Amino acid sequence: MTHAPLTLFNSLTRKPEPFAPVHDGEARVYSCGPTVYNYPHIGNMRAYVFADTLGRVLSWRGYRLTHVINITDVGHLTDDADAGEDKLEKAASERAQSIWDIARHYTDAFKADVDALNIRQPAEWTVATDYIDAMIDFATSIADRHCYEIDSGLYFDTASVADYGRLARAVTEEGEGRIDAVEGKRNAADFAIWRRTPPGETRQMEWDSPWGRGAPGWHLECSVMSGQVLGFPFDIHTGGIDHREIHHPNEIAQNQAFCGCGGLDEAVHSGAKIWMHNNFLVDRTGKMSKSSGEFLRLKLLRDRGYHPLAYRMMCLQAHYRSELEFSWDGLLAALTRVKRLLTGARNAIGASGETVASGAVMADLAIDNARLRALLDRFDAALADDLNTPVALTVLDEAVTAKKVPAEEKAALVAAMMAVLGLPLLAREDFRIRPQSAQLDETEVEAAMDRRKAARAAKDFATSDAIRDELAAKGVEVMDGDPLGWEWQPG
Ligand code: AMP
Ligand code: ZN
Repeated sequence: MTHAPLTLFNSLTRKPEPFAPVHDGEARVYSCGPTVYNYPHIGNMRAYVFADTLGRVLSWRGYRLTHVINITDVGHLTDDADAGEDKLEKAASERAQSIWDIARHYTDAFKADVDALNIRQPAEWTVATDYIDAMIDFATSIADRHCYEIDSGLYFDTASVADYGRLARAVTEEGEGRIDAVEGKRNAADFAIWRRTPPGETRQMEWDSPWGRGAPGWHLECSVMSGQVLGFPFDIHTGGIDHREIHHPNEIAQNQAFCGCGGLDEAVHSGAKIWMHNNFLVDRTGKMSKSSGEFLRLKLLRDRGYHPLAYRMMCLQAHYRSELEFSWDGLLAALTRVKRLLTGARNAIGASGETVASGAVMADLAIDNARLRALLDRFDAALADDLNTPVALTVLDEAVTAKKVPAEEKAALVAAMMAVLGLPLLAREDFRIRPQSAQLDETEVEAAMDRRKAARAAKDFATSDAIRDELAAKGVEVMDGDPLGWEWQPG
């Protein structure tokens, strides 16, 4: 059986391209990580659900995956260009806290969200401040030919590499307008490689360098960490679509300079063969902004009684290159779907106890039954088509409900499909989350449910209704006759 080639949309060429690894049998992937000055919002987490799905599909296709996600704990300014303050320095001074404590706290919070969404741990989390020496070495090696010094630091001359800005497609007047003018820059798009600490100021994070005491530019970090850990060229670089405009074109320019590479008609000259970008999660209520008080982060979803995997499902239901609009109704629909899927999958898998620990590999699946085989092929073809998860999910639904097929093979197939999509086989109790507004704990709810069951059995409907109302007042919705067998949920 031959399978459709794995095809991924390359933002650099704006075309789908077959995946052809740089190193036989391997896939090396770098994802731009979070800037750890605040909690991630759920839009940020869409970027990592996407990167995780990509990684799982590469593993499913049999590639040995090395995934790296960085932690930006220095250098990211409040503006994506070169203006504003360092996001971490700003947070530290506003909260009168040590910058290192802030970075540690939000790194831990980010990793907790990664776990909650069942995103696999990358092979390595690279932390920017661990790579300062490597950044200075990198900058030193390109400084003569590609950089110049001005008062505020060492700048990259974007005219010194071929095809600057191709990833963004247009370095338009409008685009350039967003880049603040810094006195002495040769080209509007030139960016800081090393930011010298202004005289009379001190930063909590600063290091000595050939260009004075200061801190690295944000773009430099990713070029250095990706190149050092994965080696240029590596296979795939990912990030949110905003990075297609400034951050990644600048990384690419640095990579070209470092490798002594030519123009970008050869995609490998960019440092990675394929550049992939997830589209945005958008929200009309304005709560995506980290500056709004109660912003949309996973904790808010949990506080309202939504299991984080409902959000993973919401992401999977859309193609990663489509904009996804957030709504509470949409999240509720995703929660219902993931619960239904889980009930079905656990029934299908139940007896055999089949599980796939962290990843599934297509070649390991022995499926002889023709109907199941066809489902497997359709599932794989959907994912091979630039990670079409919405279609893969519908095929999974079909597999879960397939009748008159060998139970063991069905169990193995369903377990593998769930694993590829990163949906763990949780028990239904695990899916219940008590919203903050609810005042009962689970044991109390279960006890009330038992009392109510007894009242109903005794046809004492007055008592049973009273218990239901009592529970409702405490934020618990009783679900009589729920087809999925969920007796109650946080209301
Ligand atoms: P940051 O911490 O700002 O560097 O962002 C971390 C990741 O989240 C980056 O890959 C961004 O491109 C991505 N991102 C930011 N906002 C959104 C959004 N609303 N939807 C999807 N991805 C986003
Ligand atoms: Zn980056």
